[in-house]
Amino acid sequence: MTHDHDPEGGFVPECPAGVELRPDKIQLKDMTRDQLDAFVKDTLGEKRFRAEQLFNWMYARRAASFEEMSNLPRGLRLKLEDAASLHRIVPRRAYPSPDGTHKLTFTCHDGAVIESVWIPSEDRNTLCVSSQVGCAMGCTFCLTARMGLLRNLSIGEITDQITFARRLFPEEEHGRLTNVVMRGMGEPLHNYDNAVAAMRIMTDDKGLGLSNRKVTVSTSGLVPAIEKLGQDINISLAVSLNATTDELRDEIMPVNKRYPLAVLIKALEDYPLRPRRRITIEYVLLEGLNDGLEDAARMVQMLKRIPCKINLIPWNPHPDSAFKRPSRDRVERFQRYLIDNHYNALIRETRGIEAMAACGQLGKPGEQLPKRFRKAAEATTP
Ligand code: SF4
Repeated sequence: MTHDHDPEGGFVPECPAGVELRPDKIQLKDMTRDQLDAFVKDTLGEKRFRAEQLFNWMYARRAASFEEMSNLPRGLRLKLEDAASLHRIVPRRAYPSPDGTHKLTFTCHDGAVIESVWIPSEDRNTLCVSSQVGCAMGCTFCLTARMGLLRNLSIGEITDQITFARRLFPEEEHGRLTNVVMRGMGEPLHNYDNAVAAMRIMTDDKGLGLSNRKVTVSTSGLVPAIEKLGQDINISLAVSLNATTDELRDEIMPVNKRYPLAVLIKALEDYPLRPRRRITIEYVLLEGLNDGLEDAARMVQMLKRIPCKINLIPWNPHPDSAFKRPSRDRVERFQRYLIDNHYNALIRETRGIEAMAACGQLGKPGEQLPKRFRKAAEATTP
């Protein structure tokens, strides 16, 4: 990638020749594999195996143009060039953090800007991808919530985040992209059909080729969609819990008013997990609000019938933030309680904090601490 620094911060990544958005054309990356098969066979009048070759070029081989698709006959390449478009987003900027994390921004055909986060670590590379422009869920600790929901991302706008990240961070230099989490902007299960179709392409051997254990959808708790997901696709599930009482969860995650904790927990108990798989419970620790031992004790009771692991995420501060990050001692005390009660509980180290790319920091600045909890937070502040 090139490093053209500019006043907006970050740098403009190199964009391969041939990458352009052509919204007036047929969008191949918004098709499922079956739809692409039908398009090649019925609309273009080609043999079925050509659809497989095209699919392979689009995803596994990350072709930037039809021209590159050397095993397709020239006539077919010209037909495709004339009728169809290969890209749904173009890279806009990359914002690196000293720890190697990069926030990546992309521009869509209508000017919307979406974000992904590249998170390298010793044994894996993870990409956190967005599923919507903004979000309707209104979690009070989340920057994206402030934007409201502008629109859903299409299948191709989701999968192209992965295609471009692989191009920006080539395997030979950075190692393979191993994990994808749908935890960027948006509630993926609120854009259910496109999110599931995109995950099918992610886990297709001839597509993006990721292991289905290593593709994770992270939800705020849309219960009917969780129930449907378990029937529809075999990927990993993560749920943002963030509170152990309905009173607090109603305040910080309004989705709880529709699907309160008891309903959410029952859905997780009934979720059809494959053998040796577990649900990830994500818990953002907010000082004085949900980081006490009484919260840990309630969590232990609440999760006792769910095969799960728990990710504890100390709150990531940002400008305008009314919430506070708990001290390391409080975080470790919380973790110790869970471990003593036989839970696998990890403290998820904050990555990319400098790039404003960590959990709950995508989108525009600002959030409000609910009034009734301000006192509690103030009381625990030294
Ligand atoms: S935390 Fe997730 S679900 Fe909640 S508002 Fe932010 S993006 Fe939406």
